[in-house]
Formats: sequence, structure tokens, C-alpha cells
Amino acid sequence: RAYNFNAGPAALPLEVLTRAQAEFVDFRGTGMSIMEMSHRGKVYEEVHHEAESRLLSLLGNPEGYKVLFLQGGASTQFAMIPMNFLTEGKTASYVLSGSWADKAVKEAKLIGETHIAASSEADKFMSIPDLSSIEIPDNAAYLHVTSNETIEGTQYQQYPKTGNVPLIADMSSDILCREFDANQFDFIYAGAQKNLGPSGVTVVIARESMLADSPKHIPTMLRYNTHLKNDSLYNTPPSFSVYMVNEVLRWIEEQGGLAGVEQANRKKAGLIYDIIDSSEGFYRGPVAAGSRSIMNVTFRLASEELEKQFIKETEQAGFVGLKGHRSVGGLRASIYNAVPYDSCKALVDFMADFQKRHG
Ligand code: PLP
Repeated sequence: RAYNFNAGPAALPLEVLTRAQAEFVDFRGTGMSIMEMSHRGKVYEEVHHEAESRLLSLLGNPEGYKVLFLQGGASTQFAMIPMNFLTEGKTASYVLSGSWADKAVKEAKLIGETHIAASSEADKFMSIPDLSSIEIPDNAAYLHVTSNETIEGTQYQQYPKTGNVPLIADMSSDILCREFDANQFDFIYAGAQKNLGPSGVTVVIARESMLADSPKHIPTMLRYNTHLKNDSLYNTPPSFSVYMVNEVLRWIEEQGGLAGVEQANRKKAGLIYDIIDSSEGFYRGPVAAGSRSIMNVTFRLASEELEKQFIKETEQAGFVGLKGHRSVGGLRASIYNAVPYDSCKALVDFMADFQKRHG
């Protein structure tokens, strides 16, 4: 297998792929693949409900929360959130922490009034804004945060307290990477294709009260209560993706749940940040120390030329996906839950050798 550091779609656990392969043609004795069956049938429905309850169980079964399986990616949530929650006389408040937060704000602006509660733009988004700088207006419909900025490689270490204002988080690139208290959030969403499974399904975990009462003037498919009332089976769900999410969740349980994956993730991230920090400036981590992501490790070399050489050599050595996002350049190792420790170890060994040859 390749040393896969893709930012998304990203590596999946080998155990999950192997299990899916074994079940691919004949799912549990039905003589059909899971993707060939009716989503109204007992077999698929069982998988669907298993995935919902596994997800809640990994979060400690927070009371009053529901899971939705939607389509359209996290990008569709950028629009659905203000469409559903930004009502007359309210303003949508956003923490502007990086490229993805910026996309979320831009979409909300199409729907109604927005407000920037805090920003790290002046710092080129190389840190998460200081929580104490967050100002939430009285008429805020919600506060939106991006828990992990995939492109810049920053991640919240703690979340703001918002009182009565609902806290909404885009957790696309760090959901289930560590233990956290789901009760802090009123609404969490994530595209599946980094930590949860293949692309094609978008997961929402939210207080039922947030989902129950959607405006009637917006299209049926874009109302959360349509999906709540129909248990995410209003129309044909992305059934194969939901099945895969269920298998990834089972795998997370087998790793010791969120505590288990967190421990592994910290060890992996520590390995890479350590070689950056001990390289005497050969590798440079541009992100502020207190904002470093354990999912997307971004780093730079002395010149773009040397970065190109690094990419070329890593590709020859069997590494995939280490090029930084085209909007920021540099290098990025995305080390989601499914990226094995051995891949990270191989990367740091390569980095040490590269420095010897080019330092
Ligand atoms: N939000 C974050 C933090 C992301 O990393 C991404 C994709 O990389 C998105 C949103 C967009 O997700 P999607 O491609 O599912 O629309």
C-alpha cells in the first residue's frame, strides 16, 4: 500500500477495505452487494441505524442529539446552515480562521447578514483566533467555527463558550480524531471523506431541537426537518458510503474509541512536528505552536524549488499527497485516523535523509 497522506478523499483503514471487499459481492448471504439493495429493505436499514447509533455511542450518547446522513458535502452545509437558522432580524456570526471558514462565511452572505466574531486573517491564518477575542452579537443566530483548517493546518485546542447562542462546528477534517464533549456543540457537520469513510455522505450530529423546526419557504431537500422526520431516508441515501462509515466507526471502536485514536494521532503528529522542530530551520512549521493541527501537518522548506524537489523525491519513494494546497503552497502531511504510524515513521525517516542530502 502507498504511504497515503492525501488531504481528502484520504486513506481508509486497511481492515475496513478488506472487510468491505469480502462482503462486496454477497452482503451477509443476501446474494447482492449492499449497493444493489433497496434502501427501504430490512438489511440496509439495519446498517443505516447501526451507523447512527455507533456514531452517537462513540460520542458518549449525548442526550437529545440526532444523526443525519446527507449529501452534497460539507460545502452544501455552508448554505443549508444559514438557510435553516439565519432568520429575519438575526445575524450569522463566524470565526474567520482560514480558507474553509472563509468559504462558509461567503456562502452565508448569500443568504443574509453575517458578522465576523474573530479573525486570524492578519496572521495569514497561521493560528486559530484567541478565544478571548471572540465577540458574539446579541442577535446572533449562531456562532460558526471550523474546528480544523485543513489547508493551513490549524486546529482548535478548546472551543468558545457561547451561552444561549448555538455553537456550530465544521469538523470535516478532524471529526472523531480525539475525545471531546459533544454537548458543547449544538450542531456538528462533516464531509465523510477524511475521518469517516468514502466521499458521498455528509454527517450531521445535532440537537434534535435545532433540526425540528425548519423554515417552510426553503426547498424540501434543504430543510433539516425533512431529514429528521424521515430518519435520513426521505430520498435515496448514499447507501454504500453509509455502510462504509459504519465499518469505519466499528474500526474506531476496535482502536479503543476516541481515546484510542487520539493517543495514536498524537503520537503520529508528534513524530512529524519533532523532526520539523529539531531540523535547525531546514524544515519550518509556519503554524503558531498553540494552534498546530494533529490532522494536517503543514511545513515549508527554504525555497519553492527545494519544495518541488521534496515532492518529486517523495513521489519516487512511494509517498502520496504531500504537496500543500495550491492556494498556500508548501508541504502538507494529512495524517487522519486511518494513516498508520508506520507511514509517519517512513515519512520522518525520508525527511531526515532528505535533509542530509540537501541541508
Ligand atoms: N470544510 C473543511 C474543513 C474541509 O476540509 C473541506 C474539504 O476539504 C470542506 C469543508 C468541503 O467539504 P466537501 O468537499 O465535502 O464539500
